[in-house]
Amino acid sequence: MPKQEQEPASEEVTEVAPGVLRMQLPIWLPGLGHVNMYGLVDERGLAVVDPGLPGPQSWKALKSRLKTAGYRVRDIHTVVVTHSHPDHFGGAGRIAREAGAELVTHHSFSTWTVKGPSPQRAISDSEARRAEVDAAAIAQSVAGPPDEIPTIAEAAPDDPDILHDDTEETEATATPWGRETPWGTKNPGPPLKRRLMIRAMRVLFTPPEPTKRVHHGDRLRLAKRDWFVIHTPGHTVDHLCLFDPETGALLCGDHVLPTITPHVSGVRKADSLRSYLATLDLVARLDGVQLGLPAHGHPFHDVPGRVEAIKEHHQERMELLRSASMAVGPASVQDLSHEVFPKRHWGVMAESETFAHLEHLAHAGQAERWQEGDRLMYRVAPLSSGA
Ligand SMILES: [Zn+2]
Ligand SMILES: [Zn+2]
Repeated sequence: MPKQEQEPASEEVTEVAPGVLRMQLPIWLPGLGHVNMYGLVDERGLAVVDPGLPGPQSWKALKSRLKTAGYRVRDIHTVVVTHSHPDHFGGAGRIAREAGAELVTHHSFSTWTVKGPSPQRAISDSEARRAEVDAAAIAQSVAGPPDEIPTIAEAAPDDPDILHDDTEETEATATPWGRETPWGTKNPGPPLKRRLMIRAMRVLFTPPEPTKRVHHGDRLRLAKRDWFVIHTPGHTVDHLCLFDPETGALLCGDHVLPTITPHVSGVRKADSLRSYLATLDLVARLDGVQLGLPAHGHPFHDVPGRVEAIKEHHQERMELLRSASMAVGPASVQDLSHEVFPKRHWGVMAESETFAHLEHLAHAGQAERWQEGDRLMYRVAPLSSGA
């Protein structure tokens, strides 16, 4: 039985919440069969969230789904991209160009062609906002004064790096092909044939240049109601979810998926797993959250339950790393990734995920890290000596 995230894109268009349409677009990524593009309908036309991969096949499917729903590309007034992965931003630039649509991303959004905001802007904006927001207040503030920015209390205790909004502090983008990763191995990139195909596609590609960069706590008027921007760094630094307190719907991108565990990218100078775990708690505690609308797979109801299961998975992986480290002694990220991942998953993704877990343990004082030549080396402490 394939997992629901692996199911091929259905041509059906379904209304999954009032005024919210699920339209599945085909994708060609390991472990995934479709991406959900959500259409949020109002009197002006519609907004779409995560319009699929770059390229003509996805675009054709996108137009055909819109047609099924009774719309054309030019009816799209807004396109929201939850994060900087190609299966989410692929069609966004073209929609913005052809429909004159607003292109909305998180403030820190960046890709290989789209640069993040300038550090100057990042500093002043994040200082102005100090995005430490209370989950419950997000729901309550619907009735509050329009300029009031809600605060996330518990999820972001006193540590600004949980919601690291300051892009200059972290390396937001993935390691380019052929370049060195933060942990000292080379990212070989995809096989040559695929690489050439991707290069060719880039030539015809309209980059997803944001026209509106939003922050945690901002509101967007979509499907005739206010949705709150929830910054959820972890899967990527620039990931955002949208929460509608009126119906309890959460557009969760790749932050929470129904049956597979989202990949957590290790980034330089930040504990991305900590950010991820904290912002998982944050979405689980949103007041009245009752419907997860993921980017892959079916809508699901128990957001807190799913969050709990994902957290357990990461706890288990950390324990696995601990026992692997105790068995092999000091080791590189690559070596340790080989201990905890089956051989078919070896490579830069597994290493990045291992790096994120090791950095999390190091930040918590449960692992030592040092440089040996060009490699980062780690040793995880036995449980008793941990905090
Ligand atoms: Zn993703
Ligand atoms: Zn995705």
